[in-house]
Amino acid sequence: MPGEHPTPIFRTEDELSRLSASDRIRYRLVGAGCRYHANDNIADYIKDGELDELLGEVEAKMSDVLRSLVIDTDSDHNTNDTARRVAKMFLTEVFRGRYVQMPAVTEFPNVERLNELMIVGPVKVRSACSHHLCPILGRVWIGVLPNEHSNLIGLSKYARICEWIMSRPQIQEEAVTMLANELQDRVQPDGLAIVMEADHFCMHWRGVKDDESMMTNSVMRGAFLKDANLRREFLALLTKKA
Ligand SMILES: [Zn+2]
Repeated sequence: MPGEHPTPIFRTEDELSRLSASDRIRYRLVGAGCRYHANDNIADYIKDGELDELLGEVEAKMSDVLRSLVIDTDSDHNTNDTARRVAKMFLTEVFRGRYVQMPAVTEFPNVERLNELMIVGPVKVRSACSHHLCPILGRVWIGVLPNEHSNLIGLSKYARICEWIMSRPQIQEEAVTMLANELQDRVQPDGLAIVMEADHFCMHWRGVKDDESMMTNSVMRGAFLKDANLRREFLALLTKKA
């Protein structure tokens, strides 16, 4: 059945060492019953050195893709190193948020007992759609209403967490929810609001509905759900900042 996880079969260390890095990592994920969709982070299941092995593996497969596209990568100097470049771009840049641990974020207690609406943004978003692996470029605004028990994090850390979540193949609605969950866990505010506005390049590059390429969506939690004034205040400040 599509989407069904393969049954884990026990393998000895020796057998495992003969598998490709991706098979080894998948073996651990399946064994742990851990989901590994395009927008999931799998850093906990990758051992030292395996990211480099993945790089070699993806490069080889990407060469095969170019071969199947009937591109002469031997004589065409422009595509000589394309397989390597694309593999590196996927693993270490545009999909990096799948393979590395979340950036270290120091949380500090709310000693000043701040309880005013705080807005972070616009934070630049660079992501990709999981349907076509086309770029999604946009901006995100984060509204936080802390309480005295909240953990505060530095302003720049919001951007780092956002970047870590976004640099994966995504669906915009899920990306915003993931970001909200992560911030909710860390900051534990009374209210959390996120608005994301992004341009989906699969619409420009290959689609027919060019005018529908912009998408805006939002997540409102806690006080932002209950308090219409707070919501209005957030949205008004956001328009001013845009
Ligand atoms: Zn797409």
